[in-house]
Amino acid sequence: MCEELTVSLVDVLEEDEELEEEASAVLAGSDSDHCSYPQGYVKRQALYACNTCTPRGGEEAGVCLACSYKCHEGHELFELYTKRNFRCDCGNRKFSELQCKLHPDKDDTNNLNKYSQNFFGLYCTCSRPYPDPDDQVEDEMIQCVVCEDWLHGRHLGCMIPDSVELQEMICESCMNKSQFLWTYAAHLAVPGEAIQTKEEAGQSNSNTPNKEEQVDDVTAPSCKRSRDEAESSCRLKDLQAVGRKRVQSGAMFWPSAWRSKLCSCNTCQELLSKAGLSFLLDESDTVLAYENKGKNSDQRQPGNDPLMSALDNLNRVQQLEIIHGYNDMKTELKDFLQRFATEGKVVTSDDIRQFFEQQSRKRRRVDNEPFHSP
Ligand SMILES: [Zn+2]
Ligand SMILES: [Zn+2]
Ligand SMILES: [Zn+2]
Ligand SMILES: [Zn+2]
Ligand SMILES: [Zn+2]
Ligand SMILES: [Zn+2]
Repeated sequence: MCEELTVSLVDVLEEDEELEEEASAVLAGSDSDHCSYPQGYVKRQALYACNTCTPRGGEEAGVCLACSYKCHEGHELFELYTKRNFRCDCGNRKFSELQCKLHPDKDDTNNLNKYSQNFFGLYCTCSRPYPDPDDQVEDEMIQCVVCEDWLHGRHLGCMIPDSVELQEMICESCMNKSQFLWTYAAHLAVPGEAIQTKEEAGQSNSNTPNKEEQVDDVTAPSCKRSRDEAESSCRLKDLQAVGRKRVQSGAMFWPSAWRSKLCSCNTCQELLSKAGLSFLLDESDTVLAYENKGKNSDQRQPGNDPLMSALDNLNRVQQLEIIHGYNDMKTELKDFLQRFATEGKVVTSDDIRQFFEQQSRKRRRVDNEPFHSP
């Protein structure tokens, strides 16, 4: 057994406080006792979709954290992690039978809510469930900060940079919907290579105008403009004038604080607003800001729950699954750890990994039978 892989139970217990903070990061930013409906469209909150109440084929609906506990206990829930600007649907017209126990008095629908395939438990450009029973490839799921869908690392069309958890990702489809993002990408995004398909690679030296030349067409007029208006006060125009190019393909990763480098002149504010991207000018919109709020909040669950540091070598989505399933799993983990304590054995990372793998197999079995009646 490799020395550094060995953690004693005591070590695990000592990291308690940190663990608790991690566990609460996703959930404590949201209220686990009160339906968030009265707060209106909440800037960011943990969300769930209920496959028991609003199954595939019907209308999508999302419920808040408190409702997931109190109104949908024992139902099959999709964990959506967090989404922005959402108002709890629990028990509204989209639910034929269920009454919300926490806040029954709701409008029929919340017209400003944005829904996606995620609400039916499907993710990525490949529209697959997660975990996917037919997919044995180990892969990371990364959330696009614009459409908030989760994408497989291998379906992003780009190399995944290191320390990806500190960065924000915008998927290719969202990049293409707002062309000016490519201008920012050439200057601000994390350098990386787009993964070219064979077809594209073959074309790159041909005479047909390629994507980079199209960028030239866009930048040329603004060069002229910025010479005319020597005192340009628009950072985006300045960047366009520089004319730096980037192959417009694949998802883009953005380093921390990149949002603060976006131009917020009146024209750009309007541009962002039209594109539905005003939140990009708001640092407090980020998942990181939300998680920090969770870590600092007073809503932390009392009690000692030693485990989260063991999650370091699991990927982010696995971590989130565990955090979401935390309460269910906590008793089992305690029993598991107790066995080691009784026998005076040390708990190794391998032991813990095995424990989580069993948990996830269990979970997968449940997920494989989504359409059984409860
Ligand atoms: Zn609710
Ligand atoms: Zn339900
Ligand atoms: Zn409810
Ligand atoms: Zn995919
Ligand atoms: Zn996207
Ligand atoms: Zn501007």
